[in-house]
Amino acid sequence: MFPFFGYYYFFFLICLALFLSRPCFPARTMPETVTEIHNATWHDFSRFLYAEKGSQVSGISELKKYLNHFGYLPIPDMTLNFTDTFDKQLESAVILYQKRLGLPVTGKLDSDTVSTIMAPRCGVSENDNGAHRIHSTRHFSFFDGKPRWARGSSMTLTYAFSPYNMIDRLSMSEIRPVFERAFSRWASVIPVKFMETIQYESADIRIGFYRGDHGDGEPFDGVLGVLAHAFSPENGRFHLDAAETWAVDFDQEKSKLAVDLESVATHEIGHVLGLAHSAVKEAVMYPSLSPRTKKVDLKIDDVVGVQALYGSNPDFRLSNFLESENSSNLALGSESGLSKWTTSIAFLLLILFLRT
Ligand SMILES: [Zn+2]
Ligand SMILES: [Zn+2]
Repeated sequence: MFPFFGYYYFFFLICLALFLSRPCFPARTMPETVTEIHNATWHDFSRFLYAEKGSQVSGISELKKYLNHFGYLPIPDMTLNFTDTFDKQLESAVILYQKRLGLPVTGKLDSDTVSTIMAPRCGVSENDNGAHRIHSTRHFSFFDGKPRWARGSSMTLTYAFSPYNMIDRLSMSEIRPVFERAFSRWASVIPVKFMETIQYESADIRIGFYRGDHGDGEPFDGVLGVLAHAFSPENGRFHLDAAETWAVDFDQEKSKLAVDLESVATHEIGHVLGLAHSAVKEAVMYPSLSPRTKKVDLKIDDVVGVQALYGSNPDFRLSNFLESENSSNLALGSESGLSKWTTSIAFLLLILFLRT
């Protein structure tokens, strides 16, 4: 009787259905936060999104340099130059990168991969600077040779702040408690104590903020990009990029580029102790950290990794740890809590299996 009304109604329903189903389509644009948080070099990488193997992509040699710097792509034979061709070596490097950062392994420069590459990260790589993985797994890893501090059974490591290389943005009375908390998190799971000393030169762990090239062959790159780096045992050097907007309290520091000092300190202490990067995104030892993000609580992956080097603190109770970890996860959301429960249970089974 009203055929036009019928058609319009049908058309309206289709449009409504398409509108409501939008979230089901994979996002093909870069997440907004990623385009905002960048340093000049890595921000450029957004133009390589969906670049295809076999094609010539202007400037993609810069991406190859990045992957080479962080240990995913060897320098091509006989030459130090990378070409702008998306070749098989780049595809292999992308696959390795995806595996080590816990991303879907596609070998393509998809949105997840490009976003992760562009995110600010720790400067510690898996290349020849003593940071080889001894095993390529989907969780924690160690430096080449599995180095650790050796100081007898009851170990106390001293740490000191550089008298010359600190930052004006934060006072020592703000910085000290941050590091105290960061060290105490690791101390609560392994039989190692940390004590601050004013004897900087003789301290086991020497902490300072540096700009650009600061003499150790790993220059910092200004705002975001590389945030910090630390050396494997028993070197003790712990360097933070002075150019970052370091924050101890996001309520006071409103900058969208602010980086949480405690999160980075906790991560770098993991390196100082001998942990390399983890592929578990939730772990403290995951290499990247977005601005205005706090990630200070050790996860079971971090704990199992560091305990493999030092053993367990006699006061540490795995069951209590899993309980508190999971209660905080469940508070964040039942879905992610459930998946982390599964991960924790899997790890628990793995530990039990390894101990029998
Ligand atoms: Zn790191
Ligand atoms: Zn350095």
